[in-house]
Amino acid sequence: MAARVVPNIWSRTSSWQPLRAILDRAGQTRTAVGHFNASELVAVKGIVSAARDCCVPVIVGASERERAFAGVRQLAALVRSFRDEYDLPLFVNADHTHSLGAAVEAARAGFDAVGFDASALPFEQNVLETRRAVEALKTINPAILVEGEIGDIGSGSRVHTREPELAGILTHPEEARQFVQATGVDLLAPAVGTMHGLTPAMVCGLTKKRLDIRRIRQIRLATGVPLVLHGGSGTEEMDFREAILAGVTIVHINTEIRLALRKGLTEGLQFSEVAPYAMMTPAFEAVRCLVRARLRVFNSPQSAAEVAE
Ligand SMILES: [Zn+2]
Repeated sequence: MAARVVPNIWSRTSSWQPLRAILDRAGQTRTAVGHFNASELVAVKGIVSAARDCCVPVIVGASERERAFAGVRQLAALVRSFRDEYDLPLFVNADHTHSLGAAVEAARAGFDAVGFDASALPFEQNVLETRRAVEALKTINPAILVEGEIGDIGSGSRVHTREPELAGILTHPEEARQFVQATGVDLLAPAVGTMHGLTPAMVCGLTKKRLDIRRIRQIRLATGVPLVLHGGSGTEEMDFREAILAGVTIVHINTEIRLALRKGLTEGLQFSEVAPYAMMTPAFEAVRCLVRARLRVFNSPQSAAEVAE
C-alpha cells in the first residue's frame, strides 16, 4: 500500500544524526519524536515502515520484559540494520529499566538511550540510583541519553479491567528541577496526567486521557531538559499538540500498538493460510497504520507553524 508522504521539518533530514541532535531539532520546531514499543520483528517492521512513510525520526522502545523476549543485542542490531539500510534517524531505547545491570547490558548492546526507572523508590533513593546509572552509562557510551523518572503513572501497558489506583499526584516543578540537577539526566519523564495502559472505556474511545498542559510548561521551564510523555495511548489528540508546544519532546505509545498487533493477528489467523509472512501481514499493516497516524500528530505542521508565528 503506497503511503502519502506529508512534507515536514524532517523531509530534508536524509541521513542519520545522533539522538540528541534530533531531539534538539524537535524541541526547536515544537514537534515530538514518537517512541513505540516492540518485542518482536512484526512490530519493529510496522514502526520502521511508518517512519519511512512519514519521513520522520522514530524511537523503537523495549522494556526489560520486551527485551528479554526479543533479545537485547538482537533488538539493537535489528534497529541498527534498518537504520543503515534506509539511512533514516531510527533509534532504540531501553524503556523502564529498573536495575543498573540491565541498563549496562543495554548500553553495551548499543542502545541509543536508557530510560532508568527508579520512580517506585522514595525521592532521595531515586536520585541516588539514577545518578549512579547516569555515571555508569556515560562511562560506557558518552553519547548515550539517560532518562530519569519521577512520579506515579502506574504500570502495565495493557487494558485494565478497572481504573488503576494511582496517587493522582502530578510531578512538582521544583522537585523535577532538583532531580535533574542532582542526577544529570538528559531527559525527564514526569507525571503530568497520563497513566500506563488503557481502561475499557478508553479502548472504545468513550473517554480520553487528559494532560495538565500548564504543569508540563512549568516543569520544562524549571528543568531545561526535554520531557518524555509515558502512557500516551488513548490521549486526547489536542492535548498531544498542546503538550508538545509546552515542552514534551518524546511521546510513548505502547498499549495501542499491542491492541493493533492483536487485532491484525486475529484477522490473519482467520484464513487457512499457514505461511507466517502471510498470516502476520495484517498485524504488520495494523501496526504500521496506527504508528503512521500517531506520527502525523506528533510531527504536526500545525505545531511547527504556531511556533513560527
Ligand atoms: Zn512508560
